[in-house]
Amino acid sequence: MKPFQIYNSLHRAVEEFVPLKPGIVTFYSCGPTVYLPQHLGNMRAYVFVDTLRRALRFNGYDVRHVMNITDVGHMTSDADAGEDKIEKTARAQGKSPREVADFYIAQFKRDCAALNIELPPDAPAGDHPKPPQSALCRATDNIDAMIAVIGRIVANGYGYVTPSGVYFDVEKWRGPGGIGRLARQSLSDQYASQRLEHSPDKKSPHDFALWVLNQPNHLMQWDSPWGRGYPGWHIECSAMSMKYLGETLDIHSGGLDHIPVHHENEIAQSESATGHPFARYFVHNAFLVGMEGAKISKSAGRFPVLDDLIAAGINPLAFRMLCLGAKYRSELAFSISAVEAMELKLDYLDEFCRNAQRSGATDFEDAAWTNAYLESFHEEINQDLNTPRALAIVLDMVGEAYRRGDLSVLNTLLRFDELLGLGLAERLNESLSEERASGLLQLENLQQERERARASRDFKRADELRVQINQQADRLGYELRDVPGGRSILTPKRRRS
Ligand code: AMP
Ligand code: ZN
Repeated sequence: MKPFQIYNSLHRAVEEFVPLKPGIVTFYSCGPTVYLPQHLGNMRAYVFVDTLRRALRFNGYDVRHVMNITDVGHMTSDADAGEDKIEKTARAQGKSPREVADFYIAQFKRDCAALNIELPPDAPAGDHPKPPQSALCRATDNIDAMIAVIGRIVANGYGYVTPSGVYFDVEKWRGPGGIGRLARQSLSDQYASQRLEHSPDKKSPHDFALWVLNQPNHLMQWDSPWGRGYPGWHIECSAMSMKYLGETLDIHSGGLDHIPVHHENEIAQSESATGHPFARYFVHNAFLVGMEGAKISKSAGRFPVLDDLIAAGINPLAFRMLCLGAKYRSELAFSISAVEAMELKLDYLDEFCRNAQRSGATDFEDAAWTNAYLESFHEEINQDLNTPRALAIVLDMVGEAYRRGDLSVLNTLLRFDELLGLGLAERLNESLSEERASGLLQLENLQQERERARASRDFKRADELRVQINQQADRLGYELRDVPGGRSILTPKRRRS
C-alpha cells in the first residue's frame, strides 16, 4: 500500500505525508466564527476536516486534533477593518457576546453530529500544566496564551506598540518586497486584495493588529501588558495551536479563502515568535458554490444551512455524500437536486446492507473477492483523499455482490464507512431493531394462535401455524424447540460455523 499522500499548499504539490513523530499526527483546523449559523459551505470545510482525520486514522495514525472557535476579534473584513462580528450580532439581538457565541456553538455541534463530523472534546476550563492534545477551544478562554505569543513577537522585534494597538511588522518579517510563503503574492497584491484600513499608527498599511487598544465601544476587553483591549483575529490560531499541539504542527487546515490573509499571518506570527517552522503541511478545501458559481458566504446574506435540507425531508448525510462525491480541492456546486441524487445512492447502500444482513451472509467472513476492492479503496484515499473514486469503488463492489448473488461483503462495506462516515451501521441497526420488534410481536401472536388451535384440537391448523412460526423465527434468528409438557419455546438459533 502506498503511504498517505496529501496536497501541501506550502509547496503546491502532492506529497507523501510523514509526521514529525512516528505514528502520531498533530492536526489543527481553523474552526467556526460563531455569530451566525454555519452555512453549507462552512460545513463542507468541516466534512473535509473530518474526512482527513478519518483517513489518517484509517492509516493507523493516532490523530491529535485541535479546532478553535472564534468568539472574539474576527472583524467584518478578514483584515482589521469593520466591527467585531460577534458583537455586531449581539447588539442586533440584544444579547451578550457570550450568549451569541454559546447559541451558535450549540447549533454548530448539532449540525456536526447530524453530519457525523466528530469534533474533539471541549477543552477543559482553567489552566493545565499539560493541556490535552485534542480539544475544541474557544478564543475567549485562551487570551493568556495569545498575550504570551504577542509578548514573544514584540520581544523578537517583529511587533510594535502604538496607542491604537500592537501591530505585526510585516515589512520587517518578509523583507522589503518579500513574497508571502503560502499565497506567493507580493505585499502590494495582498494589500489590494485586503483593502486594509490604514491606521495612522501602522508603520505600513500591510501591518496587522495583534492586540487592539483604545476601542471603548468594544464589549469584550481584557487587561494586557500593553493596556486593556482585545486580540486581533489571527493570533488566536497561532496561540491555541501551539498551546495544545506544540510549536511545530504536522497539519493545518482551512478553507482556500484563508490562504492570502489568515494563514499567511498565522505563519508570520508563529515563526517570528518561536523561530521554528509552524506547520509542515497546510491543506485547504475548495468552496461550495451556488449553482451559478456564486460564492456561498455568510456575508453574502443568503446561504443554505443544514436545517434547510432537514426541512425538505432530506437526510443530512446525503450532503456529506455530496461533499465526498467531489475532490476536496475542486469547487463543488450546490443544489437541492444534487443532494437528492446523492440521497438515492445512500438509500441504495442502506437497502444493500439490509439485504446482506437478512441473507445471513454476515454470519460468514466476507468473500475473498472483496480484498481487491478494499485495496483499491485504500489506494484512492491515500492518493490525496480521492473520495469520488473511493465512493465509485464502494458502489462497484455492491453492484458486483448483486451480480454474483454473493452478499457477503457487509464487513468490508462497514469498514469503508469508517472512512466515509455515512452512518450505514447505525441505520442498519435501527432498521433491524424496528424490524425485529415488529417481527417478534407477530411471532408472539402466531404462537398464541397455535396454542388456541391445539387447545381446540385443530391439529391441522396448529401444524400450519408451526410452519409459519418456523419461517418467521428463522428470519429473526430464532428456532422453535419442543419442550416436555407438549409446549414449544423459541430459542436463539445456533450460529452456523
Ligand atoms: P468562518 O466561520 O467564516 O470563519 O469559516 C469557517 C470555515 O469555512 C473556514 O475554514 C472557511 O474557509 C470555510 N468556508 C467558508 N465559506 C466556505 C464555502 N463556501 N465553501 C467551503 N468552505 C467555506
Ligand atoms: Zn485560523
